[in-house]
Amino acid sequence: MIDRFGRSIDYLRLSVTERCTLRCTYCRVEEGICPKAQELTAGEFERIGKTCARLGIRKVRITGGEPLLRKDILEIVHRLAAVDGIEEITMTTNAQQLAGRVGALKAAGLQRLNISLDTLDPDKYREMTGGELSTVLSAIDEAIEAQLLPVKINTVIIKGTNDDEVDDLMALAKARPVEVRFIELMPVGELGQNDELRVNNDDLIAARPYLRPLPPRYAGQPARDYAVDGYKGRVGFISPLSHKFCASCNRIRVMSDGKIRPCLGSNLEVETKDALAQGDAALLETMRNAIYHKPVAHHFNTGFISLKNMSRIGG
Ligand code: SAM
Repeated sequence: MIDRFGRSIDYLRLSVTERCTLRCTYCRVEEGICPKAQELTAGEFERIGKTCARLGIRKVRITGGEPLLRKDILEIVHRLAAVDGIEEITMTTNAQQLAGRVGALKAAGLQRLNISLDTLDPDKYREMTGGELSTVLSAIDEAIEAQLLPVKINTVIIKGTNDDEVDDLMALAKARPVEVRFIELMPVGELGQNDELRVNNDDLIAARPYLRPLPPRYAGQPARDYAVDGYKGRVGFISPLSHKFCASCNRIRVMSDGKIRPCLGSNLEVETKDALAQGDAALLETMRNAIYHKPVAHHFNTGFISLKNMSRIGG
């Protein structure tokens, strides 16, 4: 549907849990997460999906927390993939529990995977996340083998932590058909508030004149894509701070307790609990209202403090 600023909203980020397998330094949250018992059921996510489809949502990205922590994740994917009007189901994961499950996810209806990876140093990976790097690397290969292409690798560069690894991370796209995307650290979560840690994507691009700009895959694509000679895959830069893309933002978020978050860079949230209990007509009206009133732009550059970390909102 069209929001009050004329933007066409057709993309839902659906967080199915706030729980996570990792404790990433800039994303971790120890307290206040939505308890498992209050997470929506697969059936309720399906109702959200159907309502969104009626309002013009065509693409759903399942995220979290860590979506693979949900024991019923195959059912969630399957139910959403079967919703009339939903054309694409994708997932963002840290891949710690992905090994051996890609085939089943694909069979359930998953079309693509985004895998988060910020370092290629096993010790640093353990320090930054508490997880195992080798697990992620083999999961990337499993996703490629299953032809969930392009596999996108999401990387957040943090000054003094992994800014010396930009070229190595880019080189993941040399022999593999993957897209390595550098996402600017957003002021979401405690570390993200620290401007000193932020790396401007323009600086990464300017330092690499061999990057050849590619046309976007679709209109309004937030990533600026580049080719590198001899690389199978491509490199992308998503720059919500240095190149704000709010004017063409096409997404809303629904969190694991059903609350709608129309904009990542605004603390505005809309409850759906009562509407879910009342029935589908009430849910439709609540969602229509929330989408219509999506804020005009994020407040990242004006001292915004998010009340929740990304793992709670759904990255
Ligand atoms: N657990 C899944 C994963 O790791 O991909 C999905 C959820 S995680 C919150 C999604 C993404 O959000 C990760 O790629 C993470 O790097 C990113 N993220 C978390 N906090 C961020 C921040 N302040 N700025 C930019 N990206 C952030």
